[in-house]
Amino acid sequence: MKIAILTIGNELMSGRTADTNSSFIAQEANLQGWSVEAMLSVEDNFASIKSRLNYLLPLADAVICTGGLGPTADDITTEAVARAFDLPLYTDEKVLNHIKEIFTQFNLVWVENNTKQAMFPRGAEVIANPVGTAAGFALQSAGKWIFVIPGVPRETRKMFPEGVVPILRREFPQNEQYIARQTIKTFGISEAAVDKSLANIDFAALGVNIGFYPVFPENHLVLVSRQTTFKAAEEKLKLAQDEVAARLNKYIFSYGEETLEEIVANLLKEKKLTIAVAESCTGGLITNRLTDVAGSSEYLERAVVTYSNAAKVSLLGVPAAIIEKHGAVSEETARLMAEGVRKMAGTDLGLSSTGIAGPGGGSVDKPVGTVYLALSDALQTICCHYAYRWDRKSNKLIFSQAALLMLKRYLQSEE
Ligand code: AMP
Ligand code: MG
Repeated sequence: MKIAILTIGNELMSGRTADTNSSFIAQEANLQGWSVEAMLSVEDNFASIKSRLNYLLPLADAVICTGGLGPTADDITTEAVARAFDLPLYTDEKVLNHIKEIFTQFNLVWVENNTKQAMFPRGAEVIANPVGTAAGFALQSAGKWIFVIPGVPRETRKMFPEGVVPILRREFPQNEQYIARQTIKTFGISEAAVDKSLANIDFAALGVNIGFYPVFPENHLVLVSRQTTFKAAEEKLKLAQDEVAARLNKYIFSYGEETLEEIVANLLKEKKLTIAVAESCTGGLITNRLTDVAGSSEYLERAVVTYSNAAKVSLLGVPAAIIEKHGAVSEETARLMAEGVRKMAGTDLGLSSTGIAGPGGGSVDKPVGTVYLALSDALQTICCHYAYRWDRKSNKLIFSQAALLMLKRYLQSEE
C-alpha cells in the first residue's frame, strides 16, 4: 500500500510553522508497512490544492491531507477537496450537534462560521475528532482514497492512528494483519548511536518494523510486529525486543508508554515514600515534572527553588562557609541541599540540583552544562555529577531528566 502526504496551510509555506505532521504520519505509515511515495506542502488556495491532489493521486493508493479545517475564512480544505472531485457539500447534523455541545460545555459564544466545520463532501465518511472541534473525513474516488484531518499536530497525532489507519487497514487488508507493538524509551544515547547499535539486528527477518522518535532528551523506539496470528506477532515482537534490550539495556528506562515521572511517581507510591525537592539550576522543573502526575500530593511534601546562595543558606541550612569554599555548584553544596530540604520537610527523601545551565557562568573547571544532583535518605546521601553541552533550556530539561533517573534507580535498587 502506498500513501502520499499533503500538508495544507499558508503558515507552512511562509516557514512560520515547521511541518511536523508529515514526519509523524510517515513514521506511522512505515510502522504499518506502507510506503510513503511523496510528501508535499501547499498554501490555502483552491487551485493549488486541486493541482497538488492531481499530482499526488496517481502516485499512491491514498493521499493523506492535514490542515485547513478551521472555522475561519482562510481554511478552505474541505471545499477545495469537494470542488476537486466535483462533489457538493452537505451538513452533518451529528457533527454539528457535537460542535455545539463543545461550545455549550466550555461556555463559548456560538459563531455561525463554526457550522463550516460540520460540512463534508457528499459521500464522505466522517472521522471523529476526540480532541477538537474539526472532524476529518475520508473520500473514495476512482479507486483512490483521500483523507482529510486537522493540521493541529495534537489532533493529527490522535486522528491518524485512530481514525485513518483503521480505514486503510479495512480497505487494504494485509495477510499479516495482526499487530503487536512495543515502545522502548532510552536516555543517554544519541539517535545515531542507537541506530548503530541496532544495525546488525535483522528486523525484516522477524517481520518487525522499527521506528525512531527522538523526544529530547529521550530517544524512543517503537517496534511493530505484523503476523498472521496475534500469538506469532507477540512472539516475534518479544524476540526483537530481546535483541534491542541486549544492546541498549543500560540506556532503556521504560518499556511502554509511561513517562519517566510516572514511573518515579508509581515507585514512590508503591514504597509509600515522601520526598522534598530543593532546586537551583532547574528552577522548579524537577518539581513541575513530578507534579505532572495526578495524585502527586501522595509523595511530594514540598519543593523550594533556592536560586541564590542566601536562599540555600536560609531555607536549607547549607553553611555559607561551604558555599564559599566549594562553590554553589559543587558536590558538597548539592549534598547539603538534599539533606537540608529533607530535614526541613521531614520527608523520607530529599532531592537537589545545582548546576550551570548557561550560556554564561561557566568556567574551565565547571563548564556550562555541569550539574550536581543529590539524593538523601535517613542513612545516606548519594551525589551524581554530569557534564552536558546543550543550550540553557535543553540543559535544564536534561538536568531534570538525570535527577528523575537517579531517583528511579535509587527506588529500584531498594527492591
Ligand atoms: P489548521 O487545521 O489549518 O487550522 O491548522 C491549525 C494549526 O496547526 C496551524 O496554525 C499550525 O500552527 C498547525 N499546523 C498546521 N499544519 C501543520 C503541519 N503540517 N505541521 C505542524 N503544524 C501544523
Ligand atoms: Mg490553516
